Amino acid sequence: MRNGMVLLLACLLNVFPALAQSPAVQQILDAVNTDSLVWRAQRLTGQVAVDVGSGPQTILSRNSFQPGNALAEAWLQQAFTRMGYAPTVQAFSGNGANVLAEKPGLLHPERKVIICAHYDAMPGGTTAPGADDDGSGVCAVLEAARVMAGQEFENTVVFALWDKEEQGMLGSAYYASAAAGNDEQITAVVNMDAIGYDGNGDGLLRIHTRAVGNSIAIKDSMVLVNTTYGLNLPIAVNNPGETYSDHASFWSEGYGAILLIEDFDNDPNPHYHSPTDKLQYMDTAYWTNLTRLAIGTTAALAIPAGPVDIHEMKAQPVFELWPNPAHGSVEIRIGGEGAMADGLVLTDATGRMVREWSLPLAAQRLPLEGISPGTYLVRATGVQNAVQRLVVMP
Ligand SMILES: [Zn+2]
Repeated sequence: MRNGMVLLLACLLNVFPALAQSPAVQQILDAVNTDSLVWRAQRLTGQVAVDVGSGPQTILSRNSFQPGNALAEAWLQQAFTRMGYAPTVQAFSGNGANVLAEKPGLLHPERKVIICAHYDAMPGGTTAPGADDDGSGVCAVLEAARVMAGQEFENTVVFALWDKEEQGMLGSAYYASAAAGNDEQITAVVNMDAIGYDGNGDGLLRIHTRAVGNSIAIKDSMVLVNTTYGLNLPIAVNNPGETYSDHASFWSEGYGAILLIEDFDNDPNPHYHSPTDKLQYMDTAYWTNLTRLAIGTTAALAIPAGPVDIHEMKAQPVFELWPNPAHGSVEIRIGGEGAMADGLVLTDATGRMVREWSLPLAAQRLPLEGISPGTYLVRATGVQNAVQRLVVMP
């Protein structure tokens, strides 16, 4: 009996994550490639020359006060352009230049999911390869842009490469402050800073979060992606997390953000901020794993979109579900014509009704207990064009 129960539980645990998987996210994860990361890092860290239009040149230092910083900026723009994006440069005081590329969301272009890293490096002087700090994060952002290029998403994805992090997170602070000033909706920020060193080989990574905006939920999403897609990487969570990288610029503006980082607390890279922060000291398998986790989380939060769903949902939603993907329960915001609806019906992918609620609700939340992870449609009955997709996570 006891053994039977354990077996049954084990089966359920194995089956549910499989149900929750998005084939699009899985495809994106499968496309993440170590050779691609290394190829870019060789150029970004000065092992191999680049050509941005004026012959071969080597990026010897990406320090803010070295000419290699501008060369890196030009090369990063070239990298995005070659992948089919139209990158922009956001200039800020003192020659600062954030390099940005966007993939506009089909359903909610105003909602941004940001995957980011900083391209400037330490130390000062003429040699600063900055392979781990933060070439590892920069190449992961470029890899995200590459593997996500062929997929459409409901939300906008921003691939952001900050400048002058080492001068006080100036680039990300400029971006976050401008975004807050414009009342922009930033759904999530996934920041990577030093994700390629694992000296003790234990594979441990850290997620820094804290109770600002939806930062805890973003951390939860990353933890779920880790199991749902079978990455199963050992994770330590720092809560409240440190403010020593660009995610903190978003916390300062009240936006949800997390930092993904190697085990900097107990297994720091001894080449940190030195001229020997080189690719040869990094663990490329570990680096690829963390890259996958960051990209999978970004893709899941951006919500892969199929053209059929989009066509159906583009017509004026009269209610909204938040957060989505959801876990446990989901907040529902009903507006406009939605006030005339008399009920809500949850159907699964085959059109089978799973649950219904009558309106108005006692609380502004739909409880999701007992609903298997997967993709559903929520339809308001009695009004036109009132359907939203809901992804239930385990
Ligand atoms: Zn850094």
